[in-house]
Amino acid sequence: MANPLSLCVYCGARPGAHPAYLQAADDLGQAIGDKGWRLVYGAGDVGIMGAVAAAAAKAGAATLGIIPTHLVQREAKHGLGADRIVTETMHERKKVMFMNADAIAVLPGGAGSLDEFFEVLTWAQLGLHAKPIILVNVEGYWSPLMALIHNVVEQGFADPSVAEFITEVPDVAGLVAALS
Ligand code: AMP
Repeated sequence: MANPLSLCVYCGARPGAHPAYLQAADDLGQAIGDKGWRLVYGAGDVGIMGAVAAAAAKAGAATLGIIPTHLVQREAKHGLGADRIVTETMHERKKVMFMNADAIAVLPGGAGSLDEFFEVLTWAQLGLHAKPIILVNVEGYWSPLMALIHNVVEQGFADPSVAEFITEVPDVAGLVAALS
């Protein structure tokens, strides 16, 4: 049997202001378990990142968490479980997460999630990979980001193809449909 799909999830280390964000995290963890996929994530147990991981584990999914040493106390408050890789730096964390992923999902999040999203987007733009990048636009959270990207194109600072590297879906059901 082929290896299960490994889905790398970027998302907030905070719960966010709308209950729909935590709900989407729960739904995504459950979906990962239902589909028999593996979750690759930042190994934290805080915010919606922690919610995705808890729901995935509860649904029987394999999880691979990658965290830099200096964030263990801050983001993995309940300790590190099995299948955890501790890196020295943030850059290594992102590299190891990306290496282990077949596809990337972006749930609502803050500057860290944006950093991770733009890194994989720019790598796709440079032709360094062709992994799907799925932006889960829960309650329209990412609409200003898509507007910004379209503005960058309209103002002549990016090729229109940049938007084609992003698959925008409204919810977790849309993400599952995009990857199935
Ligand atoms: P945030 O979206 O800001 O809540 O951050 C989500 C996750 O991204 C957290 O686990 C942060 O530690 C992580 N993060 C923030 N900046 C970086 C970075 N430059 N490289 C790797 N991970 C990061």
